[in-house]
Amino acid sequence: MKLSEIYHQSGPAISFELFPPKTWKGLAQLCDHFSELMTCEPDFVTCTYGAGGSSQDSTLDLLHWIHQDYPDIPLGSHLTCVGSSVDELRTYIQKAIETGISYIVALRGDPPQGEVDFKPAPDGLRYANELVTMLRNEYPQLGILGGGYPETHPEAPSPEVDIDNLKRKVDAGAEVILTQLFYDNDIFFRFRDRCVKAGITVPITPGVLPITSLAQVKRIISLSGAALPAHLMQRLEAHGGDEEGQYAVGVYYAVRQVEQLLANDVDGVHFYVLNKSRATTLICRALNLSTRAQRTRNYNAF
Ligand code: FAD
Repeated sequence: MKLSEIYHQSGPAISFELFPPKTWKGLAQLCDHFSELMTCEPDFVTCTYGAGGSSQDSTLDLLHWIHQDYPDIPLGSHLTCVGSSVDELRTYIQKAIETGISYIVALRGDPPQGEVDFKPAPDGLRYANELVTMLRNEYPQLGILGGGYPETHPEAPSPEVDIDNLKRKVDAGAEVILTQLFYDNDIFFRFRDRCVKAGITVPITPGVLPITSLAQVKRIISLSGAALPAHLMQRLEAHGGDEEGQYAVGVYYAVRQVEQLLANDVDGVHFYVLNKSRATTLICRALNLSTRAQRTRNYNAF
């Protein structure tokens, strides 16, 4: 199904982002509750690429595995420009198509650890908009998504410049923007307003990462730079070392966060499942998002 069809259905589009497990323990964690997660009938599922040092093949391995078990669910592979020439990117894209992938989340990627500036690979690409242009020109059958930053990309000199660059990516052919995670919906709403003002009309889909422990959220925030509301941090800390209590606070917060996003007409929600399927399943169920038919009814109710 084309992305435009998914986002024009009634009801919010629900997507799940996974990452390729690096260890047997990680694989077991993903498999735990995965079939339960898939009963939520996501509109599509994506898998990260090269993030946290994972190998590129493992992205397609995981997507292949999901495709075999869930042939009707559209799949998206993330793809970054890091360390690849344009020809190497083409080789990957071709393999992705053969694996049954329908969409590419086209990203620049980050510089390797310890380096500050992003340096394109020899014969490679410098910015995500260049990857989007290549995909649009050479692979018209693929849907293209791009990344957006409600709290502004850390390298951008200003929010305005960052939005100009986002617009460039959309003008090149990105059909949907998936945002970086955030915990303060007002920041997202202001970002969406700035996008509209800049003439960006494609769906801007908020990225939601349910908190499952205090240690996890501290790590994520140090990586993404997302602001954590003080009251949320206090509620998490109030549970001391009680991880179950922290989990409950995180899931409850995500339910309320997604509920408010839906009440404000978001086009969809992109869940950073991070292979912890149970939390996302609980949130979808709590909000009656756990089947496509329910999402349609739900949306009409708002
Ligand atoms: P770009 O859009 O290229 O932007 C990077 C910076 O350059 C920004 O500051 C922007 O303002 C500026 N810029 C953009 N275009 C231009 C231009 N033409 N001229 C001048 N300046 C410009 N990383 C991974 O390694 N693997 C993943 O799977 C992955 N998945 C992600 C999924 C989502 C939804 C998001 C939001 C991020 C993901 N990332 C992933 C992280 C991402 O790679 C980093 O945030 C990276 O630093 C920026 O990628 P980008 O595609 O947004 O870059």
